[in-house]
Amino acid sequence: MILVLKQGISPAETDRLKEELRSEGHLVKEIKGVEETILGVVGTIRKDPRHFETLPGVAKAVPISKPYKLVSRELHPAPSIIRVGDVAIGGDRLVVIAGPCAVESRGRSLEIARAVKSCGAVLFRGGAFKPRTSPYSFQGLGEEGLKILAEVREETGMGVVTEMTSTSQADLMMKYVDVVQVGARNMQNFELLKCVGRIGKPVLLKRGLAATIEEWLMSAEYILSEGNDQVILCERGIRTFERYTRNTLDLTAVPVIHALTHLPIIIDPSHATGIREKVSPMARAAIAAGADGLTIEVHTEPDKALSDGPQSLYPEQFKQLMRDLYVIAPVVGKQLDFSYLEKAKKLKATSAPPGKRPRKVVYPGEPGSFSHKACMHFFGAETPHENRSSFRAVFEAVREGEAALGIIPVENSSTGSVHDNYDLLLEYDVRIVGEVTLRIEHNLIGRPGTPLADLRRIYSHPQVFQQCREFLEQHPDWDLVACQDTATAVGRVKANQDPEEAAIAGREAAALFGMTVLNQGIESNPRNFTRFVVISADEFLAGPNHKSSLIYSVSDQPGSLYETLKLFAERRINLVKLESRPLHGKPWEYLFYADLEADIQAPEHRELLEELRKRSEFLKVLGSYPKGLVTEN
Ligand code: PEP
Ligand code: MN
Repeated sequence: MILVLKQGISPAETDRLKEELRSEGHLVKEIKGVEETILGVVGTIRKDPRHFETLPGVAKAVPISKPYKLVSRELHPAPSIIRVGDVAIGGDRLVVIAGPCAVESRGRSLEIARAVKSCGAVLFRGGAFKPRTSPYSFQGLGEEGLKILAEVREETGMGVVTEMTSTSQADLMMKYVDVVQVGARNMQNFELLKCVGRIGKPVLLKRGLAATIEEWLMSAEYILSEGNDQVILCERGIRTFERYTRNTLDLTAVPVIHALTHLPIIIDPSHATGIREKVSPMARAAIAAGADGLTIEVHTEPDKALSDGPQSLYPEQFKQLMRDLYVIAPVVGKQLDFSYLEKAKKLKATSAPPGKRPRKVVYPGEPGSFSHKACMHFFGAETPHENRSSFRAVFEAVREGEAALGIIPVENSSTGSVHDNYDLLLEYDVRIVGEVTLRIEHNLIGRPGTPLADLRRIYSHPQVFQQCREFLEQHPDWDLVACQDTATAVGRVKANQDPEEAAIAGREAAALFGMTVLNQGIESNPRNFTRFVVISADEFLAGPNHKSSLIYSVSDQPGSLYETLKLFAERRINLVKLESRPLHGKPWEYLFYADLEADIQAPEHRELLEELRKRSEFLKVLGSYPKGLVTEN
């Protein structure tokens, strides 16, 4: 039963209500939404919904239509994010778990862990208790294996995931691991489910060999009903008549699960296919389908693996897969972050003195804007963040030390540079320490059922109107009203309540304001990307840095620009951006914005930088930073 509480109910009244419901033998869960607070009431409910509506503080009682209650989206409309140390599963950043099928030895585990970490994995997997089909197969190292996992975490900083096969292992799990896996063969071992529910650690619940999605969600319900909300679902292939692959990967589960439950879903393409060559294609497909992450078996010498060698990727293959996922993720509104763990560590280190609140990061515009999304993509929703009313206010907050870092848009693939921010980069003594690129999909957003023919005024950012030119040309009678950012545009349409108005913005803004997408994907070019940079008053990530941004000017003489470009060409440094911009107050004189694929501040480029300084009238190195993609090792 879902009880929607009356607006303005006091916390004391809510507590009294919860107490009463609990005394009737129900399990009660409070969920605070933006607009309303609801209580999820589960257990054996014999009473009529009307009984609940008579209770003080209850506005409405709605039965949950599904057999699973706590895991259902009806009860909890927002997606759940499961935290494992610094890692958040179910947010904007993909989580890739990697490691061998089984922990085989200390040396091997550490070797694989170092390899997968350098490719961008954030959690390490490895079985210490292996549920094998044959009693004669390797059964795992038991506690010895768990100790090795703890050592891997100690050395690499990656949280560890391992399978629990019996309730008798509960204490060991508490002691050594970060995520407890319930294997496919145990998905309906109800005693085990209740036990992991009580352990309270995040649980990776694999889908049973022949389980329906509903049965799988009922198993998750067991864990939640014991008070443990931290469940990650894992599709790992199901039994079908097809024998070519070990199992049949049911990727349909991804959108189905996302519609039915708030819990995140990851995919295990290793057990799903059983064949090394099939793992990467299905991993790529899983991310394209919208999965929150992957768990992948990787081994440095699969031929010698004690279990599942034939489906284990070589580190080289894993690295290539991760590079592919880095490209695919933005298409579906996510990121693969190669500095995930390092960023978290750095953010903690840049925090205020002990006992004080961690320092925040800031973005321009309103929540729901693309800058907000970029902030979530780069830092994760778990990093304290705040908005500022303008680009300049972001620079101010960073310079004054009020925020540890800021994020600002600098360039769109269709409409070019955001000059205001280049001007501010010139003016303020801050440096660029990172970048993130977002796919920008625009939508026409208004009230449900509004016919396009009724619209007269459309609100958005001027650059957005340019990016949607082809669509807008079909409606020449619409007035285009400029707003500071896309979320502000949606907010105005909502506040005005005028059926002739709509806004153009991202899906997030529509969801945030409870508005409807009337027309999806109206940007002229679907390959529409905006690049954001992260600014800081200090250094951020340790590097290595692959990119540098500069602003410079040259004297008004023949060949002076060429002389600077020659310096890059001679050193085979790739110039990825070069743009000229008129100098304020000096007609026909120009500044050049340049992005290079090199760490121009590294010792090996000292001489280049000196030469460049000599040949330019003005030079400001805006910063050197990682490209976001792993290129080393
Ligand atoms: C495993 O992850 O190593 C494993 C045994 O998986 P499953 O339970 O999906 O077969
Ligand atoms: Mn395995």
